[in-house]
Amino acid sequence: MAKNIFGSRNRIEGRNKEVIDMPYRKRVFQNEAIAISMIYAIFGILWILLSDRLLEYILRDMDSYKHFQTYKGWFYVFITTMMVYILIRNQMLLLKEENYKTAKAYEKLRIVLNELIEMETKLVEQRKLTDRIIFEAPVIIVTHDEEKTISCNPYALALCGYTEEELNEKGWMELLVPHEFWPNIISIFQKIRQEKRGQNYEFPIITKDGTSINILWTSNLLSLDNGQNYFVSFGTDFNERKRYEEKVQQLAFYDTLTGLPNRAMFEIEINKHLSLNIARNHFTIAYIDIDNFKNINDSMGHQVGDMFLTYLGECLKSEVQEPNFVARLGGDEFAILYVRISKEELLQRIATIRQRISKTWSIENHQFYISMSVGVVSYPNDGENSTTLLKNADIAMYEAKREGKNRVLFYKENISDNNSRHLKMINNLQYGIDEEQFLLYYQPQFELKSGKIIGVEALVRWNHHEEGFISPAEFIPLAEESGQIYKLERWIVRKALEQKKVWEEQGFHDLIVSINLSGKTLTSSINFEEIEQIIAGAPVDFNKIVIEITETANISDVDIVINHLKLLKKRGIKIALDDFGTGYSSLNYLKKFPINIIKLDRSFIDAINENGIDTLLIKNILTLAHDLDFEVVAEGIETKEQLEYLRNHYCESGQGYLLSRPLPEEKIFELLENHYRYTE
Ligand code: C2E
Ligand code: CA
Ligand code: CA
Repeated sequence: MAKNIFGSRNRIEGRNKEVIDMPYRKRVFQNEAIAISMIYAIFGILWILLSDRLLEYILRDMDSYKHFQTYKGWFYVFITTMMVYILIRNQMLLLKEENYKTAKAYEKLRIVLNELIEMETKLVEQRKLTDRIIFEAPVIIVTHDEEKTISCNPYALALCGYTEEELNEKGWMELLVPHEFWPNIISIFQKIRQEKRGQNYEFPIITKDGTSINILWTSNLLSLDNGQNYFVSFGTDFNERKRYEEKVQQLAFYDTLTGLPNRAMFEIEINKHLSLNIARNHFTIAYIDIDNFKNINDSMGHQVGDMFLTYLGECLKSEVQEPNFVARLGGDEFAILYVRISKEELLQRIATIRQRISKTWSIENHQFYISMSVGVVSYPNDGENSTTLLKNADIAMYEAKREGKNRVLFYKENISDNNSRHLKMINNLQYGIDEEQFLLYYQPQFELKSGKIIGVEALVRWNHHEEGFISPAEFIPLAEESGQIYKLERWIVRKALEQKKVWEEQGFHDLIVSINLSGKTLTSSINFEEIEQIIAGAPVDFNKIVIEITETANISDVDIVINHLKLLKKRGIKIALDDFGTGYSSLNYLKKFPINIIKLDRSFIDAINENGIDTLLIKNILTLAHDLDFEVVAEGIETKEQLEYLRNHYCESGQGYLLSRPLPEEKIFELLENHYRYTE
């Protein structure tokens, strides 16, 4: 650019030279005019003095003399005319040339001027851009010397909180820099004066509100034409960069919901302990999973689920102190690393956490009971690296769930076998359904007042060709998990209805058949439709059919379930709420679902022997159920006391080992035949 500017200037000087020549030409013309006038004057005087004498001398005769006098007059006029012509012509030429040159010079000037204006505009624009960059850059840009501030960009002012006047008045060192840094800074600036530049040096500034900000600086020495030197310093807010780095770190290694470290961080912590490599430095990992957490999310929404997880996170933070370490591994899974802890102490610690969460929770009219399953592994016995340790802890936790949830289980090697047995079982389920390895047992239900058999509950059995009978409590959850439940339940419903038809034909028309339906089938429209078609095609008395739904079932979409249950009800089928009292939001379900029957869970009936609080609860439930017009069926009656109590408190019906175990169909036929023979 500078070159450009200088180049243009040279051109301007060259052009001006031609313009400057004009007065010189004028002067030449003036001299010319004076010379011609002088010559004319001398010639005129000489002509007057000499011409007549010369004529008299040459021409003696008077006539010739007169003639020549006339010629002399003509000659004089001719000469003077010539001279006037030359003078005027020169003048004209000069004027013309002058005009032409002026016009040319002006044209050139105009072009140069335009170029200059164009250049000026460009410069102004560039200046504006630079100003904006300086104005908006999130970097401190200050021009200063050791004491004074010359200029400061708005970012710097916003950051330090002072106005430019304040900074000018007191000096930036005095105002911003803690005194202990002064000697250091002065030596840095001395060095910059010598080396013209100083890079990446760090010192803090104190802002107007007293905050200390670490700044990373780079300074250049700026030498002006007038011999003055200033520093132009650029500073970046180190704190902000640190905050940003911390944020990235937070996102990568911490869970956003609870603020706890995440799985990656937990593995780093394990590895830290492993690298210590001291045999004595053994540690233990407790792998925690909330029981049936999915149900909370499904039935009450993710907000409630999140609320609970946040609470649990706080709870764990306050219970786990250094050097122990707690993390959220994902979903409802948490893990705690305990350093050098005895089994007793570990159980004690877990019990404290369980006490804080294992209770009936009440959130926005929803009641639910929370428990947790814990798998425990120890280093070095149960694994030598973080992956194996976490995998085995997960296996132990899964086993704790399988054994009935709400418990702590220590990892043992053969648990892995158990787990692979589960996987095998899932594969075998499909095969089992195709091979007809399943059969239905029926547990009779009695009217307690009269002792009459009023119905049977169909309970599925798996007669595995290698393992023998497998409990539905074991394979139903697996079938639900793997989606095989749909096919299995189609078989169960078809089979139970066929059996109902057989019994009707055998004369037991009024026998009620209860069929269990999984929450999965009830929420899946496609699969429910298939079940519905099977029911619709069965030539049986629907008034004597009951569908049992479990309140702990995975009911993720309550409205769909309600619609499906209503369809069943339209046919005359009754709906029973199974395992009442064990699960979630019992009363809520009662209100929402079109329920006819409540099946009181075995755990309540178990409590009848002691005169504890639960008997009072049963009494209240029975009263409530009757007030709301629900029938009550008691489950798992095992003792006479229980039977007596239930009968005295007007429980209509019940089932249990005391009365009859679940039986295969042919046994039921025998039982019914004998039964009706004696009771009728
Ligand atoms: P459930 O529906 O609550 O069935 C009652 C369970 O209690 C049955 O266990 C039954 O054998 C058992 N039981 C009955 N009386 C007594 C008693 O006096 N004492 C004791 N200790 N237990 C008693 P089962 O047959 O092992 O079934 C377990 C669970 O498996 C069932 O609980 C039900 O949730 C599920 N299930 C069974 N069959 C089916 C089915 O066909 N479809 C679905 N979806 N689930 C089923
Ligand atoms: Ca049932
Ligand atoms: Ca039940």
